[in-house]
Amino acid sequence: MPRARSSSGLAPAPEQLQGHGWRQFLHPEDDQGVMPLRYQTLETGEPFESECRLRNGQTGTYRWFLARGMPVRDDTGQITKWFGTNTDIQEQKRIEEALRQSQERIRALIDSNIIGITTAEVEGEVLVEANDAWLHMSGYTREDVRSRTLTRARITPPEQAPLFERALQEVTTRGQHTPIEAELVCKDGSRLPVLVGGVLFQDRPRQMVGFALDNSARKELEQRKDDFIGMASHELRTPLTALKLQTTLLARQLAKQGTQASAPALSRQETVDLDALLREIAGTMQQSHPSHRILVQGAVRASLLGDRDRLGQVITNLLENAIKYAPDAQTVEIDLSASEDAVTIRVRDHGLGIPREQREKIFERFYRAADPKQRVIPGLGMGLYIVAEIVKRYGGTITVDSEVGKGSTFTVTLPLMRDARPRKARHARHLSR
Ligand code: ADP
Repeated sequence: MPRARSSSGLAPAPEQLQGHGWRQFLHPEDDQGVMPLRYQTLETGEPFESECRLRNGQTGTYRWFLARGMPVRDDTGQITKWFGTNTDIQEQKRIEEALRQSQERIRALIDSNIIGITTAEVEGEVLVEANDAWLHMSGYTREDVRSRTLTRARITPPEQAPLFERALQEVTTRGQHTPIEAELVCKDGSRLPVLVGGVLFQDRPRQMVGFALDNSARKELEQRKDDFIGMASHELRTPLTALKLQTTLLARQLAKQGTQASAPALSRQETVDLDALLREIAGTMQQSHPSHRILVQGAVRASLLGDRDRLGQVITNLLENAIKYAPDAQTVEIDLSASEDAVTIRVRDHGLGIPREQREKIFERFYRAADPKQRVIPGLGMGLYIVAEIVKRYGGTITVDSEVGKGSTFTVTLPLMRDARPRKARHARHLSR
């Protein structure tokens, strides 16, 4: 509680103001702010009020005071004396400072725009404030917020109403709610997966501060995994698929090693005649895919030291995709060429094509295009990932060029190494044009 001290106490009486006695207690930094005002009010006869630090004569420490001066006048209106009080406001000053610092911290958090932050009125269920991060993620404008039209019903999906009602109940009883995975209905009608939490921060009217984190990357990954598991279990349930896979593997091994089937070597280094390998794969694929004509053009006239199976897998996967994702096309082309220090293999199809925004992602593990036309075509989203990994191990690059509805061209370049050893872990670049 502020304590009022009479003028006879520590602080000097206002009539002593002009004297030196009082001034010696004033903090030097406050002198300039306080003294001119006091001289002025003495002249004008106005009451005055100012905050200043005064020194305790005994301990030598300063405390904040609210100094007030009131003129006392006689019947004719003449000032006969001044009545002054000095109220200790040290504690109030401390609280004000703490509040200011805490507000500054909150403001910094809101302005940092790392997460979306909103303020909503609990009763009307309407948003009354949102920071830039939230506006950016939702597409709404500051004007939309100001117009108080962003109600819960508008910005959350109807089927998630029970989820939000439970959260609201929790806020009412606990003062906050456990973060929930929900969706935000954006201005353009799209839905953004978000992680949201809320804290009750004011009682009348009840207001809630909410935070929203863009959760779409995690959701997409989860979706991909679910799709993969769904597709994999489907594939495994089809006995024919498994059988076909096994026979192909067996046939390849037998052909390679005479009739002697042996356990496959884990890692092989051999001189691989690329032209022969490519033509062999094209031939085998042609037999199993009579729907398309596989045309091989050019030659690399070079051998690579490496693993024949792995190099073969690069071509097989690209060819399989070229056929699979071009169901209405008749041909698939492989172009081979070489320069002094690299070989280039191009696999071109005339199929569905790949939208620009997906051209990086198709090389990621489990990624499958979202387009319904492509979704009906079975796959695990692993083929191109494996291709990119192998190419990376050889120090090569893979790029894709595509036009939606027209087709795609995958270009693989593999360096021809003088020391003929595959270089390890040089990064392949997935460039898209
Ligand atoms: P999968 O074919 O098993 O789904 P991939 O890793 O081989 O997996 O390919 C990833 C995705 O890239 C595919 O789901 C498909 O959407 C797209 N894709 C790959 N190759 C082609 C192609 N030649 N034409 C069109 N889309 C392709």
